[in-house]
Amino acid sequence: MLLINTIKNKLRLSYRKKRWPGLIHAYKDYLPVTLNTPIVSLNEGNTPLILSNSISQLIGNGTKVYLKYDGLNPTGSFKDRGMTMAISKAKEEGQQAVICASTGNTSAAAAAYASRGGLKSYVLIPEGYVAQGKLAQALMYGAEIISIKGNFDKALEIVRELSTKYPIELVNSVNPYRIQGQKTAAFEIVDDLGHAPDWLCIPMGNAGNITAYWLGFQEYLKIKRNLKLPIMMGFQSEGSAPLVNNIIVENPETIATAIRIGNPVNREKAIQVKKESKGDFQSVTDEEIINAYKILAKEGVFCEPASAASVAGLIKNKNRIKKESTIVCVLTGNGLKDPDCAIKNNDAIFRKNVEPSLQDISKILGY
Ligand SMILES: *Cc1c(COP(=O)(O)O)cnc(C)c1O
Repeated sequence: MLLINTIKNKLRLSYRKKRWPGLIHAYKDYLPVTLNTPIVSLNEGNTPLILSNSISQLIGNGTKVYLKYDGLNPTGSFKDRGMTMAISKAKEEGQQAVICASTGNTSAAAAAYASRGGLKSYVLIPEGYVAQGKLAQALMYGAEIISIKGNFDKALEIVRELSTKYPIELVNSVNPYRIQGQKTAAFEIVDDLGHAPDWLCIPMGNAGNITAYWLGFQEYLKIKRNLKLPIMMGFQSEGSAPLVNNIIVENPETIATAIRIGNPVNREKAIQVKKESKGDFQSVTDEEIINAYKILAKEGVFCEPASAASVAGLIKNKNRIKKESTIVCVLTGNGLKDPDCAIKNNDAIFRKNVEPSLQDISKILGY
């Protein structure tokens, strides 16, 4: 008995000992950092790759569908992967302030990492279109917030201008260090699966993340960590689909506010990814997004609406998938970011104004 307990303790400690040091420390050989880089980290990365039984079954044909749940990063979205790099490099370069335009998650991550690194952060957000959780984060983490009467694209135009005029580092995904940090998600997927998936399904806003994943898969291919590359499937919302339709959308509208972007800054790079990977860009309706959002939640995975676009897109392509494929859907942000959306869009039984009586409640429960 004593021996068994000792073995159990050792096993548990061996799991615990692998304390994740954050993605820069874990992947520093693949990142543009030196011994002099002051690493600003919240131990981001190492997010779970969850096998979804219900979605695998829905797709059928022996397909395995995994969810890369990047909503479990320290500020609740994949933006932390890019921000640990961007803020560390800004600090290394002696910058004292950073700025970004944001639909919410970039501002939360920028504010958190800037504060941790002792830098000032300014964020421009589109008034009325930032989910509650994200706004709460930016307020708490200590950013100076400027809410503009305009959309994300206008905000980005302004911060780009400001960052060239004044000594403020721009930390939107035009910042090359963001892409470098974000590519580590592709490394993690390959490290977990032992190979690259056949398909990668991902939502697109500014299309920095699809660019970053592709870079990661390519770098791992070069050193033979994976021997093939995935088909990259990028999804946008029908009311905000500049990459699908190859246009600029003046007034993008969608329930998925994180991808409500009409003129993506990484347009050319994303088109290149699509071409090189033989992938596709497609749109999904808000209704399809909400449907996927509910399917995911029923399996215990709560993501934000923009993230559910990856699963909505996959479901649309059910008949195109070769049998026994391995597919990864990227869940970019946590469901708690946008509680209003969840409260408005669910099929829960929610009885209100119930008397606190054992008899009444037993009756309600059907006993
Ligand atoms: C930023 C963001 C996206 C879009 O990523 P891009 O790199 O801009 O394409 C998607 N989902 C969530 C939750 C985000 O925060």
